[in-house]
Amino acid sequence: MVRSIIGYAAQAADTPLKPFKFERRDPGPYDVQIEILFCGICHTDIHFARNEWKNTLYPVVPGHEIVGRVTKVGSEVKSFKEGDFAAVGCLVDSCRTCPNCKEGLEQFCDNESVATYNGKEKKDGKKTYGGYSTLIVVDEKFVLHIPKNFKESDLAGVAPLLCAGITTYSPLNHWKVKKGSKIGIVGLGGLGHMGLKIAHAMGAHVVLFTTSPGKTEDAKRLGADEVVISKDAAAMQKHLNSLDLIINTVAMPHNLDAFMELLKRDGTMCLVGLPGSPHPSPSVANLIFRRRSLAGSLIGGIKETQEMLDFCAKNHLTSDIEIVPIQKVNEAYERMLKSDVKYRFVIDMSSLAKESAR
Ligand SMILES: [Zn+2]
Ligand SMILES: [Zn+2]
Repeated sequence: MVRSIIGYAAQAADTPLKPFKFERRDPGPYDVQIEILFCGICHTDIHFARNEWKNTLYPVVPGHEIVGRVTKVGSEVKSFKEGDFAAVGCLVDSCRTCPNCKEGLEQFCDNESVATYNGKEKKDGKKTYGGYSTLIVVDEKFVLHIPKNFKESDLAGVAPLLCAGITTYSPLNHWKVKKGSKIGIVGLGGLGHMGLKIAHAMGAHVVLFTTSPGKTEDAKRLGADEVVISKDAAAMQKHLNSLDLIINTVAMPHNLDAFMELLKRDGTMCLVGLPGSPHPSPSVANLIFRRRSLAGSLIGGIKETQEMLDFCAKNHLTSDIEIVPIQKVNEAYERMLKSDVKYRFVIDMSSLAKESAR
């Protein structure tokens, strides 16, 4: 059986998102059905809504920072029950048999993981629709638990952890950041502000690099020990050869060497922003003279995403957000493109329930 669901969809690259009716499957034996309470707005949503990566399957219902309440579970579901709070991130399935899936790194599935929206279901090839909707049905293995020590009032701020949180947590975890590590975060947006909070909670000495002097105070509030205006060459020089790891969140092409030379021997700069056109090629000398690495990282697997949620709950970390009704989603997109949000928009999905009743 399928049910008609209301969501907000982009129908074409140049038209605003509008209400859209579509179908979701009834939960199968291994499925969890979630009433969506909040969904964060990620930059990726804009890329897909506007077909900026040239692979959008219209109509597209974006949204992969989903938090909600379980309203039904399949007969074989063991770890969720009706009434639990639950979350869904960027993935809803993968092949589960390739070496990457077996290691819990479903984001790197050799046979294509299934994206929460604009993806194709493994079972029947049907298109996936994301979190700008009232309800979602996902296999238990791809549903996350909301740790008990998050309060109900935290749930909106938890939503962005599902993409912005895990995207920064995963490299900080992979490169084993610990007390005393010196970490750089480049850029203070949705990703950068989570990077600051998480690196600080891991006990690192955190340096934020930004082009905006106006962000200094806020960065310190969010966990930066130092703030460097990256256009100030003298201020940059003070950190030469000193950083263990840099998480670079900036998705615009820029000079990577200015940051590479701040790494100490064996240090790594990890890129998590995907630019539309390439960065200027970095200097090889910067790499070989101190055995430095330039790397990238993509969200995280399901196991690590749960670890991240548990870590954030333990350390009382949520995203700094502005809550908007779904009817303001197009406006929110425009404001995001001007960096006019501190630091993530989250849609209160009860606004959509009202729409469907109209
Ligand atoms: Zn995202
Ligand atoms: Zn796989």
